[in-house]
Amino acid sequence: MSWKSVLGQERVKTILKRSFTTNKTAHAYLFYGAEGTGKDAAAIAFAQLLNCENPVEGDACDTCSHCKRIAALQHPNLKLIVPLPVGKGEKEGDDPFRTLDQKTITEYHQAIEEKAHNPYSRITITRANTIKINSIRDIRRTMHLARAERGTKIILISEADKMNPSAANSLLKTLEEPAPNTVLLLTTAHRDALLPTIISRCQLVRFELLREDEIRNGLLAQQKDLDEQQAIIISKMANGSFSRAQELTGTDLIAQREEVIDLLRNILARSPAVWMKEIEAFLGPKERYHVARSLMLLNLWLRDSMMIENDNNDAIINLDQQDSLTKFTTHFDTATLPAVINATEQAIALVEKNIYLSLILINLAFDIRRLIARR
Ligand SMILES: [Zn+2]
Repeated sequence: MSWKSVLGQERVKTILKRSFTTNKTAHAYLFYGAEGTGKDAAAIAFAQLLNCENPVEGDACDTCSHCKRIAALQHPNLKLIVPLPVGKGEKEGDDPFRTLDQKTITEYHQAIEEKAHNPYSRITITRANTIKINSIRDIRRTMHLARAERGTKIILISEADKMNPSAANSLLKTLEEPAPNTVLLLTTAHRDALLPTIISRCQLVRFELLREDEIRNGLLAQQKDLDEQQAIIISKMANGSFSRAQELTGTDLIAQREEVIDLLRNILARSPAVWMKEIEAFLGPKERYHVARSLMLLNLWLRDSMMIENDNNDAIINLDQQDSLTKFTTHFDTATLPAVINATEQAIALVEKNIYLSLILINLAFDIRRLIARR
């Protein structure tokens, strides 16, 4: 961990480093910004800093036992609060874990281990839709326990917007009576879903969307065997989220691109009777998100053919496709492409809704044939 494992977010790092070096750490922070921008990662790095034995210029050493145990999410001074299911017969005041079944506990420990390994991973536990009041009450218990370790107690409430109303009200009381040597770190991608009274008691720290080069370099540093071309495409498709980028590395985007470009060629060259069958074959058992991703790949590819036409080769994403893109632009009039790209974007929006997939693709195919003109 330490700041070097948090991608980008230089402004955030400066704010937090300064609050530490000037001894002005707030009692509560709200880290907000889109999913996958590193809010939890920064919270863990900050927790390390606040407990590190040898901090240097506002950065944790990463090697002392406190740093190591916080990075592993195994430090008594770090309490992590996440959405959990309600246990069988769970009553108010119970330990939040006591009534959970073994399967859920195992799932929780696996998610924590994954998070320690990769702070950009999301902790998702089956049936865990809210942060329970018992988890919030547990904070007070932790805060008032005799301190086993010196240093600063950190309460990290991840996805704080998932607190149910009673949990939020209970947290409000905690925020009103700050305990010494305790820092609350709330993270959320949905700031507006929090009570205004909670927001107003926290120091707000905004997380920006990550830049494409930050995502690309982060991926390449993390996954040595990742193809550079794949990393470029992923960084374009990730919309500023490193978590999203990580999910995309698990799939063969190059093969998916091949598949959807083949479909495009068929749509343009063959009769509807043929390509309608091709569309059915293409859809097969694909999940909705998979179809959306294929259409995004198509979108980027079409966009690149415009770049080729405009001699704007620096802006090309599919660098390995220059020959086939050039060939495409010799056959088709690229002036008609913006309308096609627009139609593809509309199709992506429809895929994300619950509309019949073959209908969306068949309509898109007709649009493509109508809009793209041969030279
Ligand atoms: Zn340290």
